[in-house]
Amino acid sequence: MGPRIRVPLLISRHPVGCPHSWGMRASVVPGDTDDVGMSVVSVLTAFGRIARTSELKARGVTERELTWSVRSGEVTRIRQGLYALPGVDPIMMHAAEHGGAPGCTDAARLHGLWVLADGERHIWLGTAGNRHGGCKDCRFHWDEGLVQTGRLPPVHNVLLQIAKCAGEETFFAAYESALRWSKISPGGIAWLWKHLPVRMRWLLDFAQSDADSGLESLVRLRLRRFGIRLRRQVAIRGVGEVDFVYGGWLIIECDGRENHEREAERHKDLMRDAAAAARGYETLRFDYSMIVHDWAVVEAAILAKVRSGSVDPRRNSQATGMDDRVSARQAARNTAPRAFDP
Ligand SMILES: [Zn+2]
Ligand SMILES: [Zn+2]
Repeated sequence: MGPRIRVPLLISRHPVGCPHSWGMRASVVPGDTDDVGMSVVSVLTAFGRIARTSELKARGVTERELTWSVRSGEVTRIRQGLYALPGVDPIMMHAAEHGGAPGCTDAARLHGLWVLADGERHIWLGTAGNRHGGCKDCRFHWDEGLVQTGRLPPVHNVLLQIAKCAGEETFFAAYESALRWSKISPGGIAWLWKHLPVRMRWLLDFAQSDADSGLESLVRLRLRRFGIRLRRQVAIRGVGEVDFVYGGWLIIECDGRENHEREAERHKDLMRDAAAAARGYETLRFDYSMIVHDWAVVEAAILAKVRSGSVDPRRNSQATGMDDRVSARQAARNTAPRAFDP
């Protein structure tokens, strides 16, 4: 292959005056032309769509190219020294404005994990990041790790942040969804076990990888406090797969569908319930709003059913799988115990 010869570029896809245009560059090397005018965008893409000026310059982007890219709308200036491609997730953008990355429940959502909405923004600043600005809706997290502009913290970091900030239920649901979708490695789990508060480590053992939704995680965890053990994703002949079965006779379904979907599926649900009844099952069915916002109603319904089963000679506590110890304690109090004893 002969030496590369610099020749004039006759056609530019950039307007005159743009530093990417031929008028601003004396020559280019054939074969490199694809990079002309794309450098800011391609470098930003490589950085996860957000980058600092210093990071862009280290990759060869000039001040002039940067200025032009912002003027042309190709690139957005988040604040001084920080740039993004248009269309970056607003949560990612807001975290970058503060000098960090989305953390905790925000990062979990962006990782595709199941989390309850809490109406707050959670910003991760790494071990010792500097916070830029402040706002009343943002919670700031300083913990192990180095923030990389435009990138989410690893899933194990995110889960630890949730454990410390949002509590055990939100942590548990997010963790089960991480297992379900293989978002956390065995090494990440080991790291989490080591860093998790000791009182919460049992949740890692209790978690399973077959939860279809966070609602299922919440129900299983909350009922565990009463010693109620559930079998999950049980296939029943003539009925299909149900979310939970308790004691071989009570079906519990957690319906996370939107209202309109639920309406369309209502007939199918009624048919399933009837088919289950014909086989000796009773069915309790709860939707998202009940489980998340009216748990007391759900809890009372399940406990009443379980109690009725425990005094039914055909469904005594041993056959139903109810923990005898907790069952007896509940009967003594005649109320549902609220305290949790792991
Ligand atoms: Zn948080
Ligand atoms: Zn903020």
